Amino acid sequence: AGEVTAAQLETWLRRSADVLAAHAEELTALDSAIGDADHGTNMARGFAAVVAKLDAAPADESPTLQALLKSVGMTLISKVGGASGSLYGTLFLDMGKAAPAANEVDADGFASIVAAGVAGIVGRGHAELGDKTMIDALDPAVAALQDAAASGAAPAAAAAGAAEAAAAGRDATEPLVARKGRASYLGERSAGHIDPGAASSALLLQTLADTLAD
Ligand code: ADP
Ligand code: MG
Ligand code: MG
Repeated sequence: AGEVTAAQLETWLRRSADVLAAHAEELTALDSAIGDADHGTNMARGFAAVVAKLDAAPADESPTLQALLKSVGMTLISKVGGASGSLYGTLFLDMGKAAPAANEVDADGFASIVAAGVAGIVGRGHAELGDKTMIDALDPAVAALQDAAASGAAPAAAAAGAAEAAAAGRDATEPLVARKGRASYLGERSAGHIDPGAASSALLLQTLADTLAD
């Protein structure tokens, strides 16, 4: 019931750029507690570059899901330094590889695309659930998307459930000791802070849910 279109994903990406810019200070504050205080600027810069590329594309040719997602992945990899650039870049590149050269997919197809992207992050960064990374938000979000799609939910409802699962996963990172990335250098001192990448992932999923609900 219902499709996710390339135009909707483009709207999601544009809104995400605004949301990440609005939350950049907050994400950077999280990263200053357990990292190097650049996650907000990294994400805002990356998504601003994504929007610049969308704006530069010819208005009369709408890209396929595959082309759109791959292009976002390449932009993030080339424009964002640090762990999150290559990890979020891989998310979108691998979503693009799993996406059809078409303008829309159903809820089930969309869940599979997101699952492939998150599998790409795990393949690159080797984080497991509970390592206090973006995976703690993304993995439960994928499960929620897949469950909702399997029970016949529309994409908007599936995304709403995924956003809720991601927020819960983000909150659950707070007491954890980081086992991957820069925060892991702090050992036990990383406990007591929300992981910045889990926070940015939860923002992306909330923005997706908001976009598909419109
Ligand atoms: P950097 O740590 O290079 O400064 P960012 O601050 O932009 O990069 O991103 C940090 C975030 O990246 C962390 O909060 C975490 O969620 C995520 N991260 C780091 N390493 C990994 C990994 N191996 N797997 C998954 N996510 C990771
Ligand atoms: Mg950082
Ligand atoms: Mg850094």
